[in-house]
Amino acid sequence: MIPQLWLVGYGAWPPAKRASGLVEALRGRGVTRLVDVRLSPCSSDPAEGRPYGPKPWNLQAGRAGLVGLLEAEGIAYEWLVELGNPQRRDPKMAILRAQLADPLGDWPVHRGLDRLESLIDRPGEIVAILCACEDWRTCHRSLVARALADRAFEGKLDLRDVLTGDPIPASPTMKP
Ligand SMILES: [Zn+2]
Repeated sequence: MIPQLWLVGYGAWPPAKRASGLVEALRGRGVTRLVDVRLSPCSSDPAEGRPYGPKPWNLQAGRAGLVGLLEAEGIAYEWLVELGNPQRRDPKMAILRAQLADPLGDWPVHRGLDRLESLIDRPGEIVAILCACEDWRTCHRSLVARALADRAFEGKLDLRDVLTGDPIPASPTMKP
């Protein structure tokens, strides 16, 4: 069987339904482990109740945020900071593409890919990668996923969108 990796962006749900929508969608796909590929999954404002204050989809100390939300559903969580987009002011993701394509292969993203590969290879583990962006087409998670497929699985990694269940096609423009 071809190994599988699911892709999800919590921006697909409005804030009021975000936590429940994300969890329900992951459960519906049988996901056992959510790998966070945001560069910063923490709230940008530490104060409770403010617009950018801590939310259930932020990483918070203890089990207040995403870890506890997922744990209640039996889904493990792991933040792979190495898989974050290293430069957010780079809409074409040229910097991430250049790092992925570097034959030296010793950027943080390569360490993150090694770890992600080992998680996918675990028997019974069904992995999804999480970013904030609604659409995988414009999110670095699709670059990361395609790079992993090429680098570790010789292209034989079934990439799918959690929201639609559709396969994420191999596209030359998305290749690093
Ligand atoms: Zn993103």
